[in-house]
Amino acid sequence: MGVDGRRAHDAQAAQAAQARVSGADGGHYDLLILGSGSTAFAAATRAAELGKTAVMIEARTLGGTCVNRGCLPSKNLIEAARLVYDAAHPRYPGLAPAPLEVDFPALVAQKDAIIRDYRDQHYASILDETEGEGPNPIQVVTGRARLMDAHSAVATTPNGGVRRLTGDQVLIATGSLPVVPDIPGLAETPYLTSDLLTSEESQELTELPASLVILGGGYIALELGQLFARLGTAVTILERSGRILRDYEPEIGKALADILREEGIHLITRAEVQQVAGDASGVRLSALVRDQEQEFQAAKLLVAAGRRPNTADLGLEGAGVQLDAQGAVVVDGSLRTSVPHIWAAGDVIGGETDSQTATPVGAHDGGIAASNALADTNRQVDHSVIPRAIFTDPQVGIVGLTDREANARGFVCQCNTIPLSVVPRAGAIRDARGVIKMVLERPTRRVLGVSMVGVNAAEVIHEAAMALRFGATADDFIDLVHVYPTMAEALKLVAISFTKDVTKLSCCAS
Ligand SMILES: Cc1cc2nc3c(=O)[nH]c(=O)nc-3n(C[C@H](O)[C@H](O)[C@H](O)COP(=O)(O)OP(=O)(O)OC[C@H]3O[C@@H](n4cnc5c(N)ncnc54)[C@H](O)[C@@H]3O)c2cc1C
Repeated sequence: MGVDGRRAHDAQAAQAAQARVSGADGGHYDLLILGSGSTAFAAATRAAELGKTAVMIEARTLGGTCVNRGCLPSKNLIEAARLVYDAAHPRYPGLAPAPLEVDFPALVAQKDAIIRDYRDQHYASILDETEGEGPNPIQVVTGRARLMDAHSAVATTPNGGVRRLTGDQVLIATGSLPVVPDIPGLAETPYLTSDLLTSEESQELTELPASLVILGGGYIALELGQLFARLGTAVTILERSGRILRDYEPEIGKALADILREEGIHLITRAEVQQVAGDASGVRLSALVRDQEQEFQAAKLLVAAGRRPNTADLGLEGAGVQLDAQGAVVVDGSLRTSVPHIWAAGDVIGGETDSQTATPVGAHDGGIAASNALADTNRQVDHSVIPRAIFTDPQVGIVGLTDREANARGFVCQCNTIPLSVVPRAGAIRDARGVIKMVLERPTRRVLGVSMVGVNAAEVIHEAAMALRFGATADDFIDLVHVYPTMAEALKLVAISFTKDVTKLSCCAS
């Protein structure tokens, strides 16, 4: 079909869709939600608590990214890979390596079962539980949503049907999508994204690749890179900039890069990919690595070059919803968009209001958006303290400002970094990998930020987060009696390190 023929066909299809829209009303709700991820669910359940009706329109699998193809499947497989690695690399003299056989399809099958159970328990069952005497206040419509105007959306269902739904209030909770860089040849080459973790969708990876090249040096590239390397894949990570985890403290990226390289991951920075080619049997890449051309080959290519707000083709511009330069929905502190009765929360707002793209943030904010929309509560989000983690082994935990961010905000600050080898527990369990860094405001010694790579960093960071929330100083960390021996003592030790040499302290002394 030529261009004109295609245009005529598209126009006819649009007319037919419009005719079906006016004939097929999907109902009117207090809250019309685009998406059904953790943000959307939090909003829908809050709506039900307020005695209101809500509908979620979902194009893919109920529950969104976190449960189906993000947090949960990655953390399930990361733990399996840790068991494999630790069995083959015991840290203790006296324990002989005992390699475990990896049956990747079986690992994937158990992951799918866990996800199915979790989705049933924490998402699908919520819909059943809200069902009372009358009709269920929370409805889900399967289909791709597009706003037609500021109060209505159409959902195009998988079989091509169209339903029109309207809402007094609207919430945009469509999450984010992998960024696919504009590299010559990439569009014609088969590649994976983090959607390889999904279940019940065609992108799921069910065979362990012999080799994998990963584009990107952010948390998804590193978590998945280590996971596959530990299961037996030869992994090469190509990062464009001079370091991995670009937005984090440089000491964290450096320590983690050393650890990953030590494990045998081929981690290359300043690698600018020029060309990609390949087919189902393998991929070839050429890259400028520190200005020298290099070739890479692998069975599979994984693009993990970041994520972008999912705001394209949603009809947002037509409805008057403003986007920022990154394509995120612009919101104010109450999560209201530029249209008074349209709200947005979760990954789709990107870094607006200093938000972070993480499940608990969306789940927290979805409820706030629904309360503001339906009960006029005018609650404001507070994104000043959001602890985050990367589930590599060892883990990364971060909260508050980095050294650079603190300086950019005009703080006069002071920073210290110590190796985790000074933490008694790290020595006792023979795992002293990593560092911890603390950023203090001068002269108050108020803690502005903490970054750690080390055992249990994702747990340890919560103490720092609570401290930041209540404006704690380094002295509060020092005065608090910590359980001995724990990795949380790293916080106390880094606080002490501003005034004393922590390599010369006796046990638990401050
Ligand atoms: C590999 C990976 C690992 C991660 N690990 C972690 C972790 O360990 N911890 C953590 O906190 N976060 C993690 N995240 C991030 C986390 O998954 C997201 O921050 C979170 O899922 C965002 O929730 P959301 O509700 O805003 O969006 P989503 O969960 O993405 O939900 C949006 C939904 O909207 C649907 N949608 C989009 N467009 C349309 C449309 N036009 N019509 C209908 N439906 C539409 C999508 O299909 C999707 O289901 C991870 C992400 C990935 C990819």
